[in-house]
Amino acid sequence: EVPEIGSPARTKAILNRYHLVAKKSLGQNFLSDLNILRNIVAAGDVTDQDNVIEIGPGIGALTEQIAKRARKVVAFEIDENLLPVLDETLMDYDNVKVINEDILQANLPAVVASEFEPGPPVKLIANLPYYITTPILMGVLQSTVDFAAIVVMMQAEVADRLVAQPGTKAYGSLSVVMQYRAHVEVAFDVPRTAFIPQPNVDSAIIRLTPREALPVNPYEDKALFGFVKGCFAHRRKSLWNNLQGIFGKQPEVRERIETVLNQTGISRQLRPERLTLINFIELTNAFHNEGL
Ligand code: SAM
Repeated sequence: EVPEIGSPARTKAILNRYHLVAKKSLGQNFLSDLNILRNIVAAGDVTDQDNVIEIGPGIGALTEQIAKRARKVVAFEIDENLLPVLDETLMDYDNVKVINEDILQANLPAVVASEFEPGPPVKLIANLPYYITTPILMGVLQSTVDFAAIVVMMQAEVADRLVAQPGTKAYGSLSVVMQYRAHVEVAFDVPRTAFIPQPNVDSAIIRLTPREALPVNPYEDKALFGFVKGCFAHRRKSLWNNLQGIFGKQPEVRERIETVLNQTGISRQLRPERLTLINFIELTNAFHNEGL
């Protein structure tokens, strides 16, 4: 009986047999720990009803664990050298499809419509290529696909920023935007020793699930995101300073900024990192109403 792909012995054997050298430029670090691989799939509560999208299957270690539990897995892999490898390592699974495409170019709704039967939950599970963690998550959360759960491994430092609360160092525009889009939590941490080759950073598994409705919504998502970015342009400066950076310093502009701050009851002295998601939404709407 052949050991599973994610066992250290099998991972090494596959890498040797295909003379594979992990490509740093593509963020290739192969997870080689069966317990962790199984726990990732468990964090997504994957059942035989679920259709799963995977990003970056590599040599197929996580894909295999998903395929054992899910209805179907569609995996996007950019590195064409890995296609013959995946053909072999996943040959026993008839519910896996590998697509040789850059995930940032992929049309997810079209793939979901053509590869999955309509109805059952669609989930996303991946050990992400770390160099594009943020664009991938932004793209996925902005696509019209309604993911029932997203379970992704990333650099621990980025995971900290995703779940950070107001008033902490890690809190920034990424925290606000992600927490606006989804309920975000850390499922568990993963040490660098679990990979071949080992990366220079520790990792964490993040779980994103649909968030409960907010008491107030921005008039437009893009406006909220732009406003949040602008507010964090100078973290060490006051909100007042940052707002003038966004809208301008002319006396009549300043007057309108004051009006909005009075309306919303938010102090101009605050540092942007003190503002909650709700504060940001209220300010976005109030500035819009004030014609700014
Ligand atoms: N899933 C495997 C595992 O857990 O061992 C490999 C994960 S490795 C961290 C990231 C994978 O993403 C690599 O296989 C890499 O080739 C692939 N990748 C990198 N950039 C990509 C992109 N833009 N689109 C799709 N896959 C990409």
